[in-house]
Amino acid sequence: MTSYADFHRRSLQDREGFWAEQAKLIDWQQPFTQVCDNSRPPFTRWYVGGTTNLCHNAVDRHVATRGAQNALIFVSTETNQERVYSYAELHAEVQRMAASLIELGVKKGDRVLVYMPMIPEAAFAMLACTRIGALHSVVFGGFASVSLASRIDDAEPTVVVSADAGSRGGKVVPYKPLLDEAIALSKHKPGKVLMVNRGLSPFTRVAGRDEDYTALREKHLNAQVPCEWVDATHPSYTLYTSGTTGKPKGVQRDTGGYAVALAASMKHIFLGNPGETYFSTSDIGWVVGHSYIVYGPLIYGMATIMYEGLPIRPDAAIWWSLVEKYKVTSMFSAPTAIRVLKKQDPAALSKHDLSSLRALFLAGEPLDEPTAKWISESLGKPIIDNYWQTETGWPILTICNGVEKQASKFGSPGKPVYGYDVKLIDENTGQELTGANQKGVVAIEGPLPPGCMQTVWRDDDRFVKTYWSSIPGRQVYSTFDWGIRDEDGYLFILGRTDDVINVAGHRLGTREIEESISSHANVAEVAVVGVADQLKGQVAMAFAVLKDASQADTPEKALKLEGAIMKVVDEQLGAVARPARVRFVSVLPKTRSGKLLRRAIQAVCEGRDPGDLTTIEDPSALQQVKDLVGG
Ligand code: ATP
Ligand code: MG
Repeated sequence: MTSYADFHRRSLQDREGFWAEQAKLIDWQQPFTQVCDNSRPPFTRWYVGGTTNLCHNAVDRHVATRGAQNALIFVSTETNQERVYSYAELHAEVQRMAASLIELGVKKGDRVLVYMPMIPEAAFAMLACTRIGALHSVVFGGFASVSLASRIDDAEPTVVVSADAGSRGGKVVPYKPLLDEAIALSKHKPGKVLMVNRGLSPFTRVAGRDEDYTALREKHLNAQVPCEWVDATHPSYTLYTSGTTGKPKGVQRDTGGYAVALAASMKHIFLGNPGETYFSTSDIGWVVGHSYIVYGPLIYGMATIMYEGLPIRPDAAIWWSLVEKYKVTSMFSAPTAIRVLKKQDPAALSKHDLSSLRALFLAGEPLDEPTAKWISESLGKPIIDNYWQTETGWPILTICNGVEKQASKFGSPGKPVYGYDVKLIDENTGQELTGANQKGVVAIEGPLPPGCMQTVWRDDDRFVKTYWSSIPGRQVYSTFDWGIRDEDGYLFILGRTDDVINVAGHRLGTREIEESISSHANVAEVAVVGVADQLKGQVAMAFAVLKDASQADTPEKALKLEGAIMKVVDEQLGAVARPARVRFVSVLPKTRSGKLLRRAIQAVCEGRDPGDLTTIEDPSALQQVKDLVGG
């Protein structure tokens, strides 16, 4: 067995050989003639000359060998539906959808905007697009009309695929009125809207524009739509970043490199095997949903669970009951979801037989040590943190246990993943920091490995300016996250580069202070921001959600608890890191993908306009902060 260190070294030193080998994990129609063309950096082209198809790799190639095996398992605790599609059935459904899209005028290179709840038709639509060489642009179903309109104008879709409604916590959330409003607002008018009618919410049909999927599907029941072989570099989709730090960026992804990267990650990182079941609790509106609900597991011949509903409804055991029922071997979730479970009875986790499960993978935001410990002890399974971005499409840092079993360290997502030449850079000098325990910007030396973004959709300039020009004197890809490397080569993410606080000349990562505060037994979740201060430059302000809110339900009790929390920070980090205030709220402002909107909290604390809030989950959360700081 190769050691991981050797594996990683080879991926950089013999890039071509390494990735040519990984490319065998997928099917090619025409073999590539060049593995990596980096003649025009940072616009790297992978597998030049090769032709392939994402949908072929995710569906068609498995039909002969595993046609009767589970491919897509749909579970909705919102509508109490459960439906399993075999690979053969998935193949048929995707072709019905593809034929319908073609009938509505979709051609290779066209964009199709998918504005859908977590229902199978959303996955069919994505796969149907890549099948015919059209680009999907999935917009998270929770977005309202203004956000949706701006994405319609950016993607200029020929067709929008949508549904009457989603459902959340048992409440119907109508989509169609929002879509109609968005199309009224947008400059670009999609020619057709393909409506999946779930019968949840009656809607008005726009004559000549809106088409009914039930009818079209019926018409194309026996459709045979061959896969369109596209160049490996043909764009497969566009997808927006979460908008945590500002205006979301439209990430454009290729085809061949993405397929190879996902297949390889299923093997080396996610410990999957063909024929097994994979469960990612994300949403198709996010990159995790693209890579690890739809494409990754299917490309690898696994069954994938698509779950519509909350993690705690009907009760906190629902996910684990699915693990037992479908013998899930790998599961993928986010720290934010685990923190929700943490507030529930831990007995829910031990009710079910979880023996099939190898590991729980978590990504999306910092995994604080108390949460990691809690879930690892409750499940009795390895917890594998992984750090990446919408831009990269698959992990940058993690523990590649599929290559060599290695220990995890609490608080660290792990080491650089094969293919990624990760550097820590001094942001002022542009110098690489090679010593242990030096804080720097996490950057990636080009070329980025296969699967990463090709460019910003229709904006090459923004791609270069945003990602490749922020470090003085050198062209490296910046993640805009701070990191630190320990003696053993494990990296720790300290927060985003714009989340650093400067207290009287001391630079502190908000993440470090949050980590410290959340080690207090009564803190479920916390956000720390830097707020302008005349004396010190900046001070830290903390907003915490308590496990037991009754401990702060009077001003006296709140003050006492605030003092106790400050003491924890004093002891762990020193008085310099002590927040000026620790305030208690019932919910924190987050993006719809579950990330803390620190920039919005900060703006409110400083009495500024919070800026682009199109991706906020619950505006009332920001109001709580406003009320507390008297804004
Ligand atoms: P935007 O780029 O629009 O501001 P965003 O960065 O939140 O939004 P995503 O691509 O969804 O959009 O998130 C990637 C970011 O999430 C990373 O850059 C990092 O800050 C954070 N992140 C993801 N996974 C982890 C992890 N395992 N540990 C710490 N941070 C993580
Ligand atoms: Mg980002």
